[in-house]
Amino acid sequence: MKCWAAAKFMAEGYCVKCKAKREIAAGVEEIMKNGRKAIKGKCPTCGTVMFKILGGKATPPAAPAAPTTPPATS
Ligand SMILES: [Zn+2]
Repeated sequence: MKCWAAAKFMAEGYCVKCKAKREIAAGVEEIMKNGRKAIKGKCPTCGTVMFKILGGKATPPAAPAAPTTPPATS
């Protein structure tokens, strides 16, 4: 198994300051409150914090998920 949690992410995001796509520098993976994955990093040009939502929850990579959906929260 790869310990990819410690690896650097070469993700691309949109910098609102440069108003252009930039490669996210020093990106780290984070899990948001809703369980989705995201990459948080900085713009290599201006240093503005960039945030890219991966949406890994929507498309799980062959995960043994439950066949039935759980009932609504009581
Ligand atoms: Zn920028």
